[in-house]
Amino acid sequence: MDLESHDFKLDELVDRIKANDNRLVALQVPEGLKIQALEMIDRIESESEAKVILAADPCYGACDLVHDKMKMMGVELVAHMGHSQMNIESGMPTHFIPVTYDGDPELADIYPILEKHRNIANVRRTNLSKDVEISEEEARAKFLDAVGRDSPLSGNRLGLVGSIQHLHLLEKFKKRLEEAGFDVTIPVGGDRLTFPGQVLGCNYSGDDATIGHYLFLGSGDFHPIGLVLHTGKPLALLDPYTGEASEMSFERIERILRQRFGLIMAVGESDSFGILIGEKPGQMRRNLAIRMKKLLQRHNKKGYLLALDHVGPELIDFYPVDAFVNTACPRIAIDDSTRYSKPLITPFELEVSLGEKKWENGYQFDEIP
Ligand code: SF4
Repeated sequence: MDLESHDFKLDELVDRIKANDNRLVALQVPEGLKIQALEMIDRIESESEAKVILAADPCYGACDLVHDKMKMMGVELVAHMGHSQMNIESGMPTHFIPVTYDGDPELADIYPILEKHRNIANVRRTNLSKDVEISEEEARAKFLDAVGRDSPLSGNRLGLVGSIQHLHLLEKFKKRLEEAGFDVTIPVGGDRLTFPGQVLGCNYSGDDATIGHYLFLGSGDFHPIGLVLHTGKPLALLDPYTGEASEMSFERIERILRQRFGLIMAVGESDSFGILIGEKPGQMRRNLAIRMKKLLQRHNKKGYLLALDHVGPELIDFYPVDAFVNTACPRIAIDDSTRYSKPLITPFELEVSLGEKKWENGYQFDEIP
């Protein structure tokens, strides 16, 4: 990859640096783009008077702002790449750059998948004829979503979403999909999301009952798994980098749910828990962590509050507790739990294991609003 494949909008950044006469600038870049960071530094330094510091720690989202540390170093402006601003205060001048990628994948292979998913949505719709009476069991089977919740739909619309690099393509794809006969909506989410159609691994708040199925424009599993766990709806995937069309299979989601249930069972007899609090500003859920500690106390169990910037097995495995509850980035427990030698569960899963919530009522994704 080189600077040509993505649009890093460096001209705008250099203009701002020059206009402010900034002399020390920090660059915060997500993991996938770090390989190009030195090339970016060369360009910024050659086109302006500024020196550039790369914030080289791992960065997975706009939840992770390094501003306090950079302020201490005398940095005047932070350029945060590849993510958009969320509902947290950055505390110093910040230039968010939602890096874009101009893929143009064919839609032909995605249509059969979308048609299949629309049929599933039609079955789950609530518009039952008044003359038809169905039993509670039949209703449950009819309205059940992919994560076991009884959640009837009021529509069968196609929700078109994407990761940030591809959001600028959504309107174009919406038009094409409408021409192919789909009723398409680009969902608008809550304060944590900046753009229509945007989803984060921790937030899918644009979902509503009129949306029956989804198409995600992007690559990798990170967003798609969370999207299905959160919405319980069928999901088709189109990768603008490779052009590949596929779907998130219900079998895969079932496997993940079985694994989650196995972890809930495994912590049933646990007496002591480490409760992880993320120190990154957009992951910090202190109140939730304290609520989990109080909940454990009520059940005569012990919870220790552990605050960390990065969460990894080498940083927590050695504590003499039976299991961990994660209140930092919700994806840590879902994507990485097999890397830890002790069970790592979400707050909802702890509540299920303590009998406060019921697994039979369906899975609740751990969303940060
Ligand atoms: S909390 Fe996790 S999923 Fe959410 S933006 Fe941060 S890194 Fe991404």
